[in-house]
Amino acid sequence: MTALSAGAGPDAGRDPETGRGQDAGRGPDMETSGARAVELPGPVNAHSHAFHRLLRGRTHARGPASGPDSFWTWRTQMYRYADRLDPAAYRDLATAVYAELAAAGYTAVGEFHYLHHTPGAREHAMALALADAALDVGIRLTLLDACYLQGGLDSGGRVLPLSPEQARFADADAAAWARRHRSLRAALAERAAASGRGRRGLLRLGAAVHSVRAVPAAALPTIAAALDPGEPLHAHVSEQPAENAACEAAYGCTPTELFARAGLLGPHFTAVHATHLTPGDIALLGGARANVALCPTTEADLGDGIGPARALADAGAVLGLGSDQHAVVDPFLEMRALEHGERLASGQRARFTPEQLTAAAADGGRRALGLPQTAAADRILVDAGSVRTAGSAPGQLPMSATAADVLEVQVAGDVIARNGRHVRLGDPAQLYREFFARWPQFRAAAP
Ligand SMILES: [Zn+2]
Repeated sequence: MTALSAGAGPDAGRDPETGRGQDAGRGPDMETSGARAVELPGPVNAHSHAFHRLLRGRTHARGPASGPDSFWTWRTQMYRYADRLDPAAYRDLATAVYAELAAAGYTAVGEFHYLHHTPGAREHAMALALADAALDVGIRLTLLDACYLQGGLDSGGRVLPLSPEQARFADADAAAWARRHRSLRAALAERAAASGRGRRGLLRLGAAVHSVRAVPAAALPTIAAALDPGEPLHAHVSEQPAENAACEAAYGCTPTELFARAGLLGPHFTAVHATHLTPGDIALLGGARANVALCPTTEADLGDGIGPARALADAGAVLGLGSDQHAVVDPFLEMRALEHGERLASGQRARFTPEQLTAAAADGGRRALGLPQTAAADRILVDAGSVRTAGSAPGQLPMSATAADVLEVQVAGDVIARNGRHVRLGDPAQLYREFFARWPQFRAAAP
C-alpha cells in the first residue's frame, strides 16, 4: 500500500473487492503515534456559513435566569457580525475558516452565501472573497448563491419587511437575483480560469432559496428558470417549528410541500436541516431522491431538534453532513452526532453503520454539491493508533476518531493539509489570530 503523500492514485489503499478504505501505510512527514494510517474518502462539508465562525464561544453567556435563549436570540447576535463584514475582512476570515476545514479533513465545502451587497464595493466582491479564499486553500467550493427577498413571515403568515441588518442579503426581486446569479456565474468562471492549472476545477456555482421565510412562493419559478441543468439548489427547510407554523399560515402547507408544488424537489435539490418534518414531507423528499444536509452539531448547539435522518434515508433521500455555523469543525464529530441523535431519539443503537456515516460525509455531500466524479478520489489519511483510536477496528474509526487524527488531506491530487496544518498557509489558529489583530471590530466583547 502506498501513502497518499507519495502520489498514490485514487484507488490506492482501497480493497478492490469492497472499495473500502484499507491500511494505507504512512507518508514520510506524518507524525503517527506508531500505528498505521487508514485511508478514508474525503469528507464534504455540505452546509457552511463561513462568517458564523465569528460567533464561536461567544453565544453562551446567558443562563436560565436570563429568559429563553433559542435559535432566534442567536440569530440577533449573528446579524450584528453580518453587518460589519466587508470584502477584505471576509477574504481574511474565509481563508482562516477554509484552512481550518481543510486541516480538519474536509475536502470540499458548500458555502450557503447571502452576504451579497456591501455599500461602495464592486458587485460580487463578497462572493469572490469566498472564491479567492477557497482557491488559496485548495478546497473545493460550491458557492450556493442564495436568494433572499423579505424579512420573514410572522406567525400569521404575513410578510415582514427587511430589517436594516438584512438589507445587504437582499436583491430587489427574483428577477434581480437571477440577473446577478448569471453575472456571478461569469465572474466565477473568470476567477477559475485565472487561478492556474490544477485549481480550475475547484470552483462551482449553485443556487439557494434562503428559506420560505425569506423568499415568497411567487418567486420560486423565476429562481428555477435561472438554473443551469443539474445545478444544485439548496434551501433551509423546517429548521424551527415556528417556520412551519408561519408557512402553514401563509400558504396552507409545509415548506417541503411548497417546494414540491413549485417543482423544485429532485436529485439536485438539498433540504438543509429538515428537522421538523411531517411523514408526508419525508415521503416527498425520499420519493424525489432529494439530498438532505443535516448539521447535527449546529442543530444541537441551537436547540433546533433532532431530524428524522433514518426515516429520510429509508424513504430514499440521500444524506449529507454540514457544520453550518462552525461551532464545531470536525467531520468525525458530525458523523458521530448523526448516529448519536438517532440513538437518543430512538433508544436504539446501530441506526447507521460506520460505513453509512462515512458515505453520508463523503458521497452524500458530493452529490448535494454537484461535484464531479473525479472528486470521489479525494482522500484523507487517519491515524489509527492515537490515544483516541488505538485498538479501534479500522472500519469503526468514524465512531472513535476526531479531526485531531487526520494526518493528511488530499484534494484533486494535491496534499493541502497535513497534521493539522495547511501545507502552505500553516496553522489555521495563527490565521485566526492574525484576522482578529487586523480587524479589531470582530474581537469578542466581555463577558
Ligand atoms: Zn444555514
